[in-house]
Amino acid sequence: MRQKLVVGNWKMVGSLAANLTLLTRIKQAAPALACEIAVCVPFPYLAQARSVLASSPVAWGAQNVSKQPQGAHTGEVAADMLIEFGCRYAIVGHSERRALYGETDDKAARKFAAAARAGITPILCIGETLEERERGVTAEVVSRQLHAVLAQVGVAAFAAAVVAYEPVWAIGTGKTATPAQAQEVHALIRACVAAGSAEVGAALRILYGGSVKPGNAGELFAMPDIDGGLIGGASLVAEDFLAICAAAS
Ligand code: PEP
Repeated sequence: MRQKLVVGNWKMVGSLAANLTLLTRIKQAAPALACEIAVCVPFPYLAQARSVLASSPVAWGAQNVSKQPQGAHTGEVAADMLIEFGCRYAIVGHSERRALYGETDDKAARKFAAAARAGITPILCIGETLEERERGVTAEVVSRQLHAVLAQVGVAAFAAAVVAYEPVWAIGTGKTATPAQAQEVHALIRACVAAGSAEVGAALRILYGGSVKPGNAGELFAMPDIDGGLIGGASLVAEDFLAICAAAS
């Protein structure tokens, strides 16, 4: 039985004061919720997340990680640094990084490997653009993105990983994939991983991301292969994020 997981992706948003209010609300509500909860915060706020959430069931993580070990890589953050701040998760291959910062399938795979080596659970984001969906190549795109990582790290590494299906056309747009559209892709992702190992495929948590809100979370999370959500905008509003967590519980 896969436990549902809800992860907030704060993106590049926050301030010490606003974070404190948000983290405190989440920490207070979390013990009554049956799903696992995590927040992926901007790097400078990892110390704050650790200090506020340390004695709570809420995990925290980063939104990116270097594919390199420590060294001469100005501006990068190595996985073993994230470990020092107690990160359980690191997002890799988010579509904003793919579109705006040149993150290729290969780079995402190398970041996945770097996180996994350090003992951080990578949250691998994959998903098609609107143009790709309209061309009918969603399955091809998603399996290419997934296989790029499988080929580099092997299926066993997915035993300690999470995959997030995030159709690019649904991120921050208010347009959500229907539960049936999302389920179809989630089932495909699980089948790709299960082709390498039935056990790893069956246990893999696959999150849906893309304009999840309190009003649509329940029907998405009710689908058999949707194991929770990666939540952007709504994760910045305590009531909304907690309502989504409640829908996953
Ligand atoms: C995201 O950034 O991963 C995301 C899913 O954003 P939103 O929920 O705002 O669409």
